[in-house]
Amino acid sequence: MTRTLIVANWKMHLNASQASLLLHRLHERIKIYRDIEVVLAPSMLVLQPLSLQIDRRKFRLAAQNAYHKDEGAYTGEVSFTMLQDLVHYVIIGHSERRIYFHEDLDTIRDKVAACVRNGITPILCVGETHEEHHAGETRQVLHDQVVTALSDLTSDEIEDVVIAYEPVWAISTFGGELAKPDDVKKQMTFIRKQVEDLYGKAAAQKIRVLYGGSVDNSIARGYLEIEGCDGVLVGGASLNYHKFSGIVHEAYRLRNEVEDSE
Ligand code: PEP
Repeated sequence: MTRTLIVANWKMHLNASQASLLLHRLHERIKIYRDIEVVLAPSMLVLQPLSLQIDRRKFRLAAQNAYHKDEGAYTGEVSFTMLQDLVHYVIIGHSERRIYFHEDLDTIRDKVAACVRNGITPILCVGETHEEHHAGETRQVLHDQVVTALSDLTSDEIEDVVIAYEPVWAISTFGGELAKPDDVKKQMTFIRKQVEDLYGKAAAQKIRVLYGGSVDNSIARGYLEIEGCDGVLVGGASLNYHKFSGIVHEAYRLRNEVEDSE
């Protein structure tokens, strides 16, 4: 059984000493849980020092972005190749990158391919905007985002991919409207169906699908309980050690209740 994945996206917050302090606080509160995987995505600058401090039995690291070329004259960029020994995951296609940095479907496809080529697992973020949601375009948007992003991978490579369904209107920085777990479930099923149609049932069953959008410790359970939901991607609440460790504890409780009743 796959482990529940809880990802902290610290965005452009926390310098090295602030990040180190937050990691210390989380380390005090989070135990080694065999069925929960906790992933921290600090800023690029902080990855290296955090990698020296981290207890690898409890935490893994992710980058929030990288450039799709492996090496060359691309001033200011960091490649997936350079991140190889540092991170397990890279977040790709986050709505802030799509909206503020104009990353389009092809750019994201190239990043996903570069990520896999370099042996790193992509956490591909997909989700519709408020306008698309209200125009009834959600499924078309999800279809286009999922299908394009995965189009350069083989079905074996796809099995390892993580997809985070993050409706833009539900992300705290873009409005933070709470999505109903029943609606989230429908879109997660739709995402898996896109993978199944293109790459078969085995790939669709193996990919991990997360939810992200204003998740904190008080509402995490409602999303984690969704059948087929493999975890959550957390932005704002991940900067608060009480809230973030609370989410990890909810995930742990849920896993163990379910396992006890089996
Ligand atoms: C995110 O940034 O991916 C996110 C889900 O943010 P928040 O939890 O703050 O809505």
